[in-house]
Amino acid sequence: MGGVQGREGQKFRLREEEALKYVVVVPDGMGDHPLKELGGKTPLEAARTPNMDFFAKRGTAGLSRNIPKGFVPGTDVGCMSIFGYDPRRYFTGRGPLEAAELGIRLNKDELAFRCNLVTTEGEILKDFSAGHISTKEAGALLRFLDEKLRRAYRGRIRFYAGEGTGYRNLMIVKDGKREAEKAFCTPPHDIMGQPYKRFLPKGRSAGMLVRLMMRSRELFKDHPVNRRRAHEGKGEASMIWLWGQGFSPRLPSYAERFGLKGAVITAVDLVKGIAIHAGLDVIHVPGVTGFFDTNYAGKAEYAVRALRTRDFVMVHLESTDEAGHMGSAKFKVKAIQDVDRFVLGTLKRRLREEFEAYKIMVLPDHFTCVETRTHSSDPVPFLIYSNKEERKGPAKFSERTAAASGIVIQQGYRLMGMFISLSQGGRVRWMEAGPVGVHLTNMPVKLRHIGKGFGRRHPPDTVGSDSIRIRGKK
Ligand SMILES: [Zn+2]
Repeated sequence: MGGVQGREGQKFRLREEEALKYVVVVPDGMGDHPLKELGGKTPLEAARTPNMDFFAKRGTAGLSRNIPKGFVPGTDVGCMSIFGYDPRRYFTGRGPLEAAELGIRLNKDELAFRCNLVTTEGEILKDFSAGHISTKEAGALLRFLDEKLRRAYRGRIRFYAGEGTGYRNLMIVKDGKREAEKAFCTPPHDIMGQPYKRFLPKGRSAGMLVRLMMRSRELFKDHPVNRRRAHEGKGEASMIWLWGQGFSPRLPSYAERFGLKGAVITAVDLVKGIAIHAGLDVIHVPGVTGFFDTNYAGKAEYAVRALRTRDFVMVHLESTDEAGHMGSAKFKVKAIQDVDRFVLGTLKRRLREEFEAYKIMVLPDHFTCVETRTHSSDPVPFLIYSNKEERKGPAKFSERTAAASGIVIQQGYRLMGMFISLSQGGRVRWMEAGPVGVHLTNMPVKLRHIGKGFGRRHPPDTVGSDSIRIRGKK
């Protein structure tokens, strides 16, 4: 029961500290398939997760399809769904999301490409990150390229060095309609070890992109940065690789959409980019690395503090995804346990200390499978917990128990709306009902009337992978 019960004169407004707080925790790529080395369990099943289990047991679990059919299962698309935006409508590419993170405002006609620095060996694409080249070296190479090419292309293209990581840079093309609609590009991390020429941009407007990439090969060849790297036995930046293009998405803000003020805590540029487009604050936490040594507890603590002046916070953790890409069941179990202990454990304690009413949702953006070391489009398990209305959920949070609930959100982007508006529905009901206490909505029952495909049975063995397919819809 809320402190609002029976308080005359105040029954139409919740006081600030009594207002509902929303926390979404996203362990990137946490979902996975059963593994032989874990005795037929998934990493989430094998991990000790007392805090997630606490919330699941008193909450609701289900599956959410975050990657619409026809989309590559990436963090960009998966997180856009989690944020509540339909990727089919709003996802324009990875480039413009990262542009936002770099503080680049794109004009309407400006197309942003991700511009990786990659290493090739002969015809083979050896490394999509050019040996994790430093930002300083990348900056020197891109400035050089910008100088050499800008005039030739009459100022139509610009290069921007990324921040934090050297291989993630951007190229902006003015008046890029043709390149956006008629060029098909391949992410370099998908073609490691393969002959790169087969995967150069294709389509009617790919010519300029291919020419730029091949020209960068010539220009980078004897560049001092590369000579030094070769001397030190490091991978050279052999060429640029253009992909992930898109115009700036026009996302309705969280304030417009949900009437919420919120923030995001993440080490990943893409997620920051979506947050910025959604009008959410990006909160920097010291010691955040996006890797196993990240400051987990710090992220949770900053999340709680962010909620003192906001309604909503998302905490995104990258280590679970990294472990999947490394193909290590052991690291993945460890990463999940760390997220549970330090992030959810801290949240559980601190939210209780600070706030009257709060809701937590935990879900990954997609699967990152230890076995294949890559993402898949399987529907992901989610849990929702409200401290004001405890429910009866599964004893252990996992892919299997989530599937067994029979709840499947076929359009994952709708889940955020359900998470938020259902409770607002609850608030409205309370206002109408007068001082009878705070009613947070009865989750599963209400959900069945809202979600498309809701209540449809989805037994674990039919939750198959339907991963890689064409890029986007352009
Ligand atoms: Zn991801």
